[in-house]
Amino acid sequence: MFPGKFHYLRNTFMMQIESKVEKLRQVLGQGPKNIIIVSHTNPDGDAVGSSIAWAHVLRAIGHSVGIIVPNRYPNFLEWMYGVEEVLVYKGNEPEADETIRQAEIIDFNRIDRLEALSDSIYTNTDALRILIDHHLDPPENEYGLMISDPASCSTSYLVYKAIEQLFGTDVIDKHSAEALYVGIMTDTGNFSFSYLTADLFRAVAVLVEKGIDIPRINSAVYNSYSEERMRLLGYVLINKMHIIENGMVAYIPLKENELRRFNFQVGDSEGFVNYPLSIGDIKMSAMFLQTRKYIRISLRSRGGIDVNVFARKYFDGGGHKNAAGGKSFDTMEKTVERFKAAAAEFFSEMKND
Ligand code: 5GP
Ligand code: MN
Repeated sequence: MFPGKFHYLRNTFMMQIESKVEKLRQVLGQGPKNIIIVSHTNPDGDAVGSSIAWAHVLRAIGHSVGIIVPNRYPNFLEWMYGVEEVLVYKGNEPEADETIRQAEIIDFNRIDRLEALSDSIYTNTDALRILIDHHLDPPENEYGLMISDPASCSTSYLVYKAIEQLFGTDVIDKHSAEALYVGIMTDTGNFSFSYLTADLFRAVAVLVEKGIDIPRINSAVYNSYSEERMRLLGYVLINKMHIIENGMVAYIPLKENELRRFNFQVGDSEGFVNYPLSIGDIKMSAMFLQTRKYIRISLRSRGGIDVNVFARKYFDGGGHKNAAGGKSFDTMEKTVERFKAAAAEFFSEMKND
């Protein structure tokens, strides 16, 4: 595709997004509403940051807003302003269920990954469901309004764009600026992945003007781990990183007893899956993290290798082209076997393409 055509398509798409944001304006302009914001399972910096900022702004214009997440967010987000209001749903919680039942608007990033929360949400059939998200291929027909842009670096940037269009950036205060920055910073791998557009940096410039302290945010998110987490990383790189497919694929299986040995805390393994990709030849990297219910799979890739496709095809998951995830209900051994077979098939199909 030549650049002119690409820009034309992108501009047309952006106009569609803008017209959807105008619909959102109509909904939000009908007087104060009860809104709940729900993020996806294993909420990351972007899920939590975008939710906190969006809630903060919606409250500032008169709505009542709650935030619910399907499970615990990582400890490295604990310092964030407003994070104590984020309700971690554990299932059968009358108070949370009542809040959801009373919601007039439910605002998601991603509805198909809600674990125990989904029952509660699906019984409230009256609420308008709105999606604001940057993950690929959101399920159609689930929402009254869908603001979905997979070419946005993060949901936080999408939320920023919506706020800018709806209310202007004056409504963003230092706290919401900080939350949006956390989302953008974490989902772009500290400004190193795709979709780093000039407009993104203009948005970041506005956040900087709000007085955010970037070195402090950076340290709070990336340099606040425990000694045990550092030692777990060392153990992983020496003992647990397996390389297959002629040096093109790496995988890291982590079992519960290994995690216990290093006093594992939620979020400790964040980023581990990226390390193998710093080896020149590695094209795809996987990590298998055993949890009580299932094995959580994280996938990362480089360039044309599409781990969203891989995750969907083999591990009931999804995500983005170069960062995706899924799960397995098999044992670790079986999961690894399945992964090896899947990787062999995937890479041989690609060679034949
Ligand atoms: P992570 O490895 O950081 O947990 O996830 C990487 C990316 O894949 C994130 O954007 C995340 O939202 C997405 N992802 C992770 N697990 C799943 C899953 O089970 N289903 C879908 N659809 N996306 C996932
Ligand atoms: Mn995400």
